[in-house]
Amino acid sequence: MAIARSIVELAVAAAEKEGATRIVKVNVLAGELRGIIPAQLIMCFGLMSENTPASGAHLSLRITPLVGRCMKCEEDFTVKDSRFTCPRCQGQDVQMVSGTELRVVDIDVE
Ligand SMILES: [Zn+2]
Repeated sequence: MAIARSIVELAVAAAEKEGATRIVKVNVLAGELRGIIPAQLIMCFGLMSENTPASGAHLSLRITPLVGRCMKCEEDFTVKDSRFTCPRCQGQDVQMVSGTELRVVDIDVE
């Protein structure tokens, strides 16, 4: 619900900046770590956007995988099953590169 609300807020702010009155489509990039269930988010988005310029807008969701970077050998790798171990050097010092972001990439307006 909180995520849906931020998406609506971001989209409405972007539409206002463009002087648009109605949002047709919202393209969202969400990190895997956000644990988003697309069908649920789309439903929440529909509820949260009621009585806003985003009402009735189509939510297009793209999930980005969780990527870690080894601080020892600087290898980037996809984290699977919460295994934060570098596949190259087995290092444990891993920093998240992507997977936590939530971004409205762009919106289509009328
Ligand atoms: Zn490494």
